[in-house]
Amino acid sequence: MTLADNHAQATSPAEPATFDSLDPATGSVASTHPVHTEDDVRAAVARAREAATWWSALSYDERAERLGAWKAVIAQRIDDLAEVMRREMGKPHADGVLEAALAVDHLAWAAGHAEKVLKRRSVLPGLVMSNQAATVGYRPLGVVGVIGPWNYPVFTPMGSIAYALAAGNAVVFKPSEYSPGVGTWLAATFAEVVDRPVFQVVTGRGETGAALCRAGVDKVAFTGSTATGKRVMAACAETLTPVVIEAGGKDAVLVDADADLEAAADAAIWGACSNAGQTCTGVERVYVHERVYDDFLARILDKARGLHADAGADSKIGPITMPKQLDVIRSHIDDAIAKGGKAVLGGPDAVGERFVQPTILVDVPEDSAAVQEETFGPTLTVTRVRDMDEAVERTNATRYGLGSTVFAQENGMEIAERIRSGMTAVNGVITFAAIPSLPFGGVGDSGFGRIHGADGLREFSYAHAIARQRFKPMMNLTSFTRTAKQDRQVTRLVKLLHGRGSKKNR
Ligand code: NDP
Repeated sequence: MTLADNHAQATSPAEPATFDSLDPATGSVASTHPVHTEDDVRAAVARAREAATWWSALSYDERAERLGAWKAVIAQRIDDLAEVMRREMGKPHADGVLEAALAVDHLAWAAGHAEKVLKRRSVLPGLVMSNQAATVGYRPLGVVGVIGPWNYPVFTPMGSIAYALAAGNAVVFKPSEYSPGVGTWLAATFAEVVDRPVFQVVTGRGETGAALCRAGVDKVAFTGSTATGKRVMAACAETLTPVVIEAGGKDAVLVDADADLEAAADAAIWGACSNAGQTCTGVERVYVHERVYDDFLARILDKARGLHADAGADSKIGPITMPKQLDVIRSHIDDAIAKGGKAVLGGPDAVGERFVQPTILVDVPEDSAAVQEETFGPTLTVTRVRDMDEAVERTNATRYGLGSTVFAQENGMEIAERIRSGMTAVNGVITFAAIPSLPFGGVGDSGFGRIHGADGLREFSYAHAIARQRFKPMMNLTSFTRTAKQDRQVTRLVKLLHGRGSKKNR
């Protein structure tokens, strides 16, 4: 069976259909899973709704205790989980361990901080309403549907799952058809520590994900391509189901004249080629100050020449997980070269049947697909710029705005502030994703909404405001007993408070 034959297989009418998850390095079957139908998905959501009632009634500490127990199981079996990842989507084992370790760290943060972020807190009621005690608390939404991609099959969905659970929701997770075993593994280990269906997995292809959008969940957290994100949003619009969209990117590294070039080259090549370039916040473009361009290029080429994508046990670059992505990568390289770009490493021949070798392109026009579209392969454009103004302008000139990286000694923060993206790493790469207290998400075609951090916890809750009267007001404004004299007093008060254009709110 070839990779392209990863189709659902109809069995006898009595048996549910199944599909195979294939090892992308060899094409052999990694595991087989049911194709869950619309009815199956609705049943899972119904079970989740009942479990959510119990889960949300627990205290923060009681939930944190259970999430902590799950965290411990994942941490103890981290090698096992990395192995499932390697089999299903080709990620080198050590990278799988790193990914799972980061996910565990987020789980710990979400469980440990949910109370502080979400519990009811007092806010100032303002002068006019000073007889009121004003508070806001963040309540769970109910059941959250999580739809995940295959490229970081643990870390990415856990950015939603961990935060949604910690906020008191039940979760139904639909993993990618390329990594169903990872999703099943996560749900099975959760079931070892919580014996109610608070976190379930449904498997299948795009139709199963679409069914989850229509199944009456209270929010959908989608991570995947921009194109699918639009379909998810359209489906959710029918029932006014809110969505978080974590979509693709075209992240750039900006290298200033005073940057540590060795560190910048190291970060850029790792950001471009780790996970075979299949990273939403992967580096796909580099803009380098003209004064250090040649030096930077020589260094990055030196580092890239030592890298090779293959199926070896010690390989640092694995296969391309989705066969159809090979055509996209090839077409971006071809287009760049046809438009006048040059491959200084790799090139069209770097795209094999399952693996793509590191490719560095220079002199690529800014309107090329390799600069504007998500390539999702171990390829990189390196472009000379006059100064950091030009670097920022070019960085901001795509539809995407997910992550970005700046290498600079003096002006790192100043340059970072001018980039239109959800996250920026200064003198590091993708570091923001590993800091649980920082929100993660994009702008433009990279989506909206935030996972991780306090914003990520609030994303899976709704604000409930309470205004409680502490004592009788001097003027009862919300009553038909209000007099003409009181109305005049209100007019005087508003002029006094706001009539002078002062910026400060009282
Ligand atoms: P896809 O958009 O192809 O799929 C994402 C998920 O959506 C999969 O589970 C998929 O199921 C499911 N799906 C497909 N069709 C529908 C539908 N009509 N309704 C509901 N769900 C559907 O993305 P990939 O899995 O290929 O992931 C790669 C993309 O994800 C890249 O663009 C990458 O940049 C982005 N990404 C973004 C991240 C972020 O945080 N911003 C992080 C990681 C990746 P199935 O696979 O079974 O078809």
